[in-house]
Amino acid sequence: MSRTITAKFGGTSLADASQIRKVADIIKSNPERRYVVVSAPGKRSSSDIKVTDLLYSCYSEFAKGDEYSGTLAKIKERYAEIVSGLGITFDVGAEIERIEDELRRYPPADYLASRGEYLNAKITASFLGWTFVDAAEVIFFDDNGHFDGERTFMAVNAKLRDIPHAVIPGFYGSMPDGSIKTFSRGGSDITGSIVARSTQSDIYENWTDVSGMLSADPRIVDRPRPITHITYNELRELSYMGASVLHEDAVFPVRKAGIPINIRNTNSPDDPGTLIAASIPEGIKRSPVTGIAGRKGFTSIRIEKSQMNGETGFGARLLYIFARNSIPFEHCPTGIDTISVVVSSSAFDAKREEILRELKNELSPDFVMIEKNLAVIAVVGEGMISTRGTAAKIFGALAEAGVNIRMIDQGSDEMNIIIGVDEADYEKSITALYGAMIG
Ligand code: ADP
Ligand code: ASP
Ligand code: MG
Repeated sequence: MSRTITAKFGGTSLADASQIRKVADIIKSNPERRYVVVSAPGKRSSSDIKVTDLLYSCYSEFAKGDEYSGTLAKIKERYAEIVSGLGITFDVGAEIERIEDELRRYPPADYLASRGEYLNAKITASFLGWTFVDAAEVIFFDDNGHFDGERTFMAVNAKLRDIPHAVIPGFYGSMPDGSIKTFSRGGSDITGSIVARSTQSDIYENWTDVSGMLSADPRIVDRPRPITHITYNELRELSYMGASVLHEDAVFPVRKAGIPINIRNTNSPDDPGTLIAASIPEGIKRSPVTGIAGRKGFTSIRIEKSQMNGETGFGARLLYIFARNSIPFEHCPTGIDTISVVVSSSAFDAKREEILRELKNELSPDFVMIEKNLAVIAVVGEGMISTRGTAAKIFGALAEAGVNIRMIDQGSDEMNIIIGVDEADYEKSITALYGAMIG
């Protein structure tokens, strides 16, 4: 049986007609690439605006009763340029009119946001001469707005089974009432993963503007080493922690089916990119640390109470206070008489007074200390488990760089060490860690 590839192309890969031509060349160069998932047109230069952002602006102008026709005209212009550059017959004006008619019926913002990928998929399908399959017909959410995997996998499979080549818009699906709902930003990566899984593809290719996942943020470290092989688990840790090349939820559908992901560069299609799978193939040598990623914008709430350990359920009651206020906790390092909860600063600031009151009333702590402006960095690598001295090296590198470590936490799977530092020390810490562990 011949192999099947699902290929997802991101916004910069489809930003204009010349990029779409490159994409078509990539697709046509391998007949195994049968299912293509597309994003909306992204930035053509660093100062450009993504079509999705224009659509959100347009919706907010509309919702406020402001003039939105200028923004809608810009969107129309982006597609008109693409269509004329590709030399295809495609009535952009009629499509935009239909979208505007729908807008006047006050759909949710997600409807308008989704039209970026909808139009781009229709145009790409027309240029390739392939079938367009609307994601609204095959990707489903349940009444609570959660992705409905079972229904979706069956629908995608049934729809695509007899279609040899299809283009599917990323980023959105539909609610049980038929209204459009999107995933969170960057969600076309999730659609690609869902299509790969549902069609039992042999590989999920994710085409973007870098030659794979890099071992650190290229905006901080100068030309960080590319990662050639990485496991799903490591990727999940790194993308959750801020290595934003792939949406953090995109790994789930393909991981379940054991389908590898290959991140590739549309502008450099011969580069092998990064291969993501359950395990690393025999014979591939890797260093103990695979990558480093981090994020700013955290607050730590540190609670001290003598003999806390003797109080059954203290930790549970503490975390419940955060849960009740809808604040997810990121980390929870503990000492004998201390426990800290690390949460996003923006979420905490909105509920600060309630949380402090409830902590005092329900836990009677001796001391509560709030530390703001915390950055959290993850050093990730499955090889760390079997390599002695990794932690010492990490702390040594930070000490040498003059960084004050404010929190340390180790994932229970021992494949990551999480370090909290002042936001002001974030870039310096990443650079020092990269130099010591990878570079
Ligand atoms: P697309 O539009 O193709 O989905 P994204 O902008 O979502 O692309 O993701 C690719 C970008 O992710 C790169 O251009 C790069 O700037 C950024 N990035 C951040 N961290 C990393 C990393 N560790 N490795 C590779 N790229 C990264
Ligand atoms: N176009 C959407 C966004 O900008 C989805 C995506 O590109 O994956 O977030
Ligand atoms: Mg993306």
